[in-house]
Amino acid sequence: MAARWVLHLDMDAFFASAEQLTRPTLRDRPVLVGGLGPRAVVAGASYQARVFGARSAMPMGQARRLCPHAVVLPARFVLYQALSERVMGVLGAAAPVVEPVSLDEAFLEPPALAGASAAEVEAFGARLRADVRAASGLPASVGAGSGKQLAKIASELAKPDGLRVVAPDEERAVLGPLPVRSLWGVGPVAEAALLKFGVRTVGELAAMDLREVTGLLGTAVGTELHRLARGVDDRPVAPRGAAKQVSAETTFDADLTAMADVHDAVARMTEAAHRRLVASGRAARTVTVKVRSADFVTASRSETTAAASTDLAVLTAVAQRLARAAVPEGGVRLIGVSLAGLGDDPPPALFEPVRAEPVPVAEPVEPAAPAVPGADRPWRPGDDVAHPEHGHGWVQGAGHGRVTVRFETRSTGPGRALTFDSAEPTLTRADP
Ligand SMILES: [Mg+2]
Repeated sequence: MAARWVLHLDMDAFFASAEQLTRPTLRDRPVLVGGLGPRAVVAGASYQARVFGARSAMPMGQARRLCPHAVVLPARFVLYQALSERVMGVLGAAAPVVEPVSLDEAFLEPPALAGASAAEVEAFGARLRADVRAASGLPASVGAGSGKQLAKIASELAKPDGLRVVAPDEERAVLGPLPVRSLWGVGPVAEAALLKFGVRTVGELAAMDLREVTGLLGTAVGTELHRLARGVDDRPVAPRGAAKQVSAETTFDADLTAMADVHDAVARMTEAAHRRLVASGRAARTVTVKVRSADFVTASRSETTAAASTDLAVLTAVAQRLARAAVPEGGVRLIGVSLAGLGDDPPPALFEPVRAEPVPVAEPVEPAAPAVPGADRPWRPGDDVAHPEHGHGWVQGAGHGRVTVRFETRSTGPGRALTFDSAEPTLTRADP
């Protein structure tokens, strides 16, 4: 069989790079994307912010302490989605099968590269990076290797804005020194078990006897990890099916203790999940409510209805009933609602199989964000605005009855900032 080549493309600091692309003033500045509430986490950090130790998934408060001069912006998923579609379009043109992992990451295994030399893969990868940049304006890193694990490790090594092809004769040298944690499926438990045995690196794991590994980690996990550690990874690159579940969840700034507040939150989360349901043109049969208590105990309850529904009132009533049964003593830290068992077309198919295999696609929802931003809420930093004379811009700062707008777009280059009265009628909301 011809040697396999799997590529992994990963956009560099995707959310932050998208902000820097469309708001040129931020191009060389530390940027943090995410909320500002006490429990907000960083959704994206530019490389200029990472230098100070800020990272994705870190609490926003901690990131801001590490990098106090960072510009903090709310996430603009509409923009990221649009850029992601351009990137995935390039990948789709380069290979018939693309396996997206997230908005900014995907595997591909171009048939043209079966049996190719490392130099040919280098050329292919360089072209792919150039095409992605031309289509999106954004930097991407590409890794390539004989399987998905190696391709992913290689793209990590390539960052930022680079290319790394791991040839078959380099595999051991590349994998060997990495911590075992860098292998897929090694979580804290497996890591601790291996550490107790004195095994820290992938090379040490590869050198173990298979029976020792399965003795420590179980047959299934042990066998798989031992193979991955030796660079053996024949998992296919396969397109993902459409999500079988839509969901929304939110963590509260302060634990909810009143049932009325829980009720409101469940209504909001159901509405948000319902929006995605409707957008996907489908109907749901199973409603699941997830509740996390103040002391981090998570409970979830599900109910499957006789017929699939798109009716928000019906789905909300089920969610409220489930929430009442799931609410713990003490306080509620997080509430999530998911809608699953999605039929392809509403009205419900009578003979549709009942089996539902939910794929989690929870997306954080801003607590209590108004459905349609408009005159009903004041200007906030990061808002997109339009002005008849100055064009498109974004709110850099707002408060004390004033709003400062930076007028610029990707094509204008860095623009100037102007300050207005926050009630200025010529300033209107604009599409990101
Ligand atoms: Mg990325």
